[in-house]
Amino acid sequence: MEIIDSHTHWGPSVSMGTEVTTEELLRQAEQSNVDRIVIFPFPSMALADEGINERLLDEANRVKTFIPYYYIPETMKPIPEGKGLYGGKWHWMRGIQDSSSNYQVLEDPKLGGFIEASEKIDLPIIFEEELAFTETFVRKTKNLKVIIPHLGMLGGNPINFLHAFKSRENVYFDTALASPDTVLKFIETIGHERILFGSDIPFGSMKWELEKVLSLPVGDDIKEWILSKNLKRLIGLK
Ligand SMILES: [Zn+2]
Repeated sequence: MEIIDSHTHWGPSVSMGTEVTTEELLRQAEQSNVDRIVIFPFPSMALADEGINERLLDEANRVKTFIPYYYIPETMKPIPEGKGLYGGKWHWMRGIQDSSSNYQVLEDPKLGGFIEASEKIDLPIIFEEELAFTETFVRKTKNLKVIIPHLGMLGGNPINFLHAFKSRENVYFDTALASPDTVLKFIETIGHERILFGSDIPFGSMKWELEKVLSLPVGDDIKEWILSKNLKRLIGLK
């Protein structure tokens, strides 16, 4: 069965003073029999130098295992088209990362244009903010495909995220760093079609995160959707 990791960080991190190299990602993929890897820049790197998006794209053109996503800058520039990007990463826009959302962003007159452009581009956006912020954002769009990382763990309680978005067909979740029990609860409540496997390297390991999904008490067909088919459908990957 094909396996795609839908969430990893590539390149240098300014705040952590480390780097995730291509070799490291390929090593973990080989160890775990993962076929392809979604990559996007570290937030601290993207905020320091937006050019990292271009360098990441160059690397993905060189290394065919990689599926490049665009880090959406604080100017709220939508994902550039025609460059081979497959998605975007929205990360605590102008807020305090992993801790608090900046609600003024929701009042920014540029937000409407960003959402409208992103709906047309029709690529998914991994969207990380507090629950209340995410709810307001999602209410502003019908079709934009929003992927909530970690089942919402860093933006609040995953179960609250689950109830807030269970009937929103355009909202997806990734499994990175979430507990197996919570992943199972999500599958039981919303089905398997909106759940994606992700490792969040370097914060998780591909091997451990994959074993977590493989050991869920669900059928292999369901695992295959979570491990690759849902993402392929989402980003139009053959
Ligand atoms: Zn991450």
